[in-house]
Amino acid sequence: MPRIGIPRALLYYHYFPWWEAFFVSLGAEVVISPPTTKAILDRGLEHAADDVCLPVKVAVGHVLELKDRVDAIFLPRLVSVAAREYICPKFLGLPEMVGHSIKGLPPLLSPGLNLYRGGSPYHFFAALGRALGYPPWQVLAAYRRACRVQQQYKRLLESGLFPEEALAALRGRHDAAAPRDTMGSPLVAVIGHPYNIYDAFVSMDLLGKLGRRGIKVITADSLSEENVCRGAAHLPKRLFWTLGRRTVGAAYHYLQWGRVDGMIHVSSFACGPDSFAGEFIARRAHRMGLPFLSLVLDEHSGEAGMVTRLEAFLDMVERRKKYREEGSAS
Ligand code: SF4
Repeated sequence: MPRIGIPRALLYYHYFPWWEAFFVSLGAEVVISPPTTKAILDRGLEHAADDVCLPVKVAVGHVLELKDRVDAIFLPRLVSVAAREYICPKFLGLPEMVGHSIKGLPPLLSPGLNLYRGGSPYHFFAALGRALGYPPWQVLAAYRRACRVQQQYKRLLESGLFPEEALAALRGRHDAAAPRDTMGSPLVAVIGHPYNIYDAFVSMDLLGKLGRRGIKVITADSLSEENVCRGAAHLPKRLFWTLGRRTVGAAYHYLQWGRVDGMIHVSSFACGPDSFAGEFIARRAHRMGLPFLSLVLDEHSGEAGMVTRLEAFLDMVERRKKYREEGSAS
């Protein structure tokens, strides 16, 4: 039974159940790297190119974490995950960057996923199954099962669960129907790439800090693809970067919706798509008078500064909510 390593980084937060169900259905054992720590980041910093963004450096650290524990590491070459759109080029070059900068790696499983011209992701999984030596009938059955699991996972995310909760729910270890105790709490939209928001080390535990302060949080993943598309349709031109479109589309949807009390945009320093998406969102939020906080992360980000800005932002959010409630009661 081959042991396949999956780094807990980048699009792990979107696609892990899809990938895991495929490998497990084929009889492989899946090993995930542990949650990000300072040591993982430091190892990534030693091996990654200097000018890449923090999430890629973190991903390199996760590959190193798996290196001596598995027979192969799954590091897909993601080109496009939606028709007429591209994913960030850093995903495309990641297998080469990792392969050239880390010595002694086990084989990398890096099939290409390119849905720019539409079509089915089956070819991606078929290439993966071939590389592992499984017969086509077994690969097809594993692919079908993996797609069902991924659909279930997406539904759980859209019901408001965060990825780790949705994964636990898939495994029967979390009550998907249990609401968070946030009645009457301010509602804050946290917008940004999943690998920035849900990685507690990278985000300096932003979601945990908000939760402990009694803030209810929604993210782009709580929205259906239709709502994200409707939000993005307010842009004068169609965005062809999937991650940028999801960020702007979700933010515009929540701004239009009018029920959020504040918005936080989390982005990576040195990220092209984030720099323009953040500007679009900030301008619209300011025009609408919504409390808005922009957090730009890199390996030098300090928690003390972030906490001070977050506190000031939350004071604004709570004050605005109180005024609005008093205004509607009088
Ligand atoms: S979209 Fe931005 S943060 Fe994400 S991998 Fe690309 S450059 Fe890095």
